[in-house]
Amino acid sequence: MTETERKILTKLVTEPPKFNEPMRHHTTLRVGGPADALVTVHTLDELRKVVQFACEKDLPILVLGEGSNLIVRDGGIRGIVLRLSGELTKINFDTREIEVGGGTYLPHLIVKAAQRGLGGLECCTGVPGTVGGALISNAGTAEEFIGDKVKRVTLLTRDGELKVVERDELKFGYRHSNLRDLGLVVVSVVMNLNHDEPKAIMERIHRRWRYRWETQPVNMPCAGCIFKNPPGERAGRLLDAAGLKGVRIGDAQVSPIHANFIVNMGNATAKDVLALADLMKRTVLEKFGVNLEYEVQIVGEDG
Ligand SMILES: Cc1cc2nc3c(=O)[nH]c(=O)nc-3n(C[C@H](O)[C@H](O)[C@H](O)COP(=O)(O)OP(=O)(O)OC[C@H]3O[C@@H](n4cnc5c(N)ncnc54)[C@H](O)[C@@H]3O)c2cc1C
Repeated sequence: MTETERKILTKLVTEPPKFNEPMRHHTTLRVGGPADALVTVHTLDELRKVVQFACEKDLPILVLGEGSNLIVRDGGIRGIVLRLSGELTKINFDTREIEVGGGTYLPHLIVKAAQRGLGGLECCTGVPGTVGGALISNAGTAEEFIGDKVKRVTLLTRDGELKVVERDELKFGYRHSNLRDLGLVVVSVVMNLNHDEPKAIMERIHRRWRYRWETQPVNMPCAGCIFKNPPGERAGRLLDAAGLKGVRIGDAQVSPIHANFIVNMGNATAKDVLALADLMKRTVLEKFGVNLEYEVQIVGEDG
């Protein structure tokens, strides 16, 4: 990115962009080299201006949520990393339907909705991402997904146009949606939630939380499950049966609690994490003939 581009970018937004910002500060696994520019937009107007500018200058854009499904390589990210804040994180309970900004922190939405007697998002309890990030990969469990609750999505396209997409055009599958084919940024979503007693919803949330604390390394830096479950199987079970729990490369370790999680023991690099993930994938292929597919998204350049 040129000096002139940096100056123009700085004038488009109220919060000063961060240049050469280490992505390890913005991913839950705590790895990743520098982004050319990390730009936080607080309004739709700022978002449009930045996207239109990037389009004019042919600068790549990566939309960042909480970085909880990302492995950013050690060479970092060229172009703009875009983060949604302010009015793009609002929850509107005023209408019969709920409208939620794409940058909204999902755990916050789940609890706020529960307090108003609106359930149906319990499958996403403990998913530490934003609503936009969750929609992109159709977050949830192996059986229930956030996509089940979506009525309409507003996207911003690469050329800065707003586009409203109705349910019948949306496709959600296991850790998959067609949103990336339809636009660049999930700006907001309208959801249909179920009416229920707040206490009953909170109980379901607590139960799921307890289960997570018992079965996943939730207090360690990680990026959730590294691999998707193959049809009719659990990736974690195969990785465990292959004897991979506790295996370590540098400071990246296969969690001794759940074999489908890689945890950062302190100073892991993306190179360590990716070498370990590759070893996990190869071992399962050799032992069981199953070719695991990545659930995490791997982005950026090699160091
Ligand atoms: C401890 C732990 C437990 C987890 N458990 C689960 C689980 O049970 N189920 C599950 O499905 N996942 C789980 N995850 C993975 C992760 O939290 C989810 O995939 C989450 O939805 C990612 O959201 P994010 O905001 O962090 O997205 P990011 O990781 O920041 O980004 C992921 C992708 O979404 C895109 N993106 C993000 N926001 C937007 C937007 N507004 N518009 C367009 N694109 C966008 C990014 O460009 C990127 O391609 C877990 C992760 C951790 C660390």
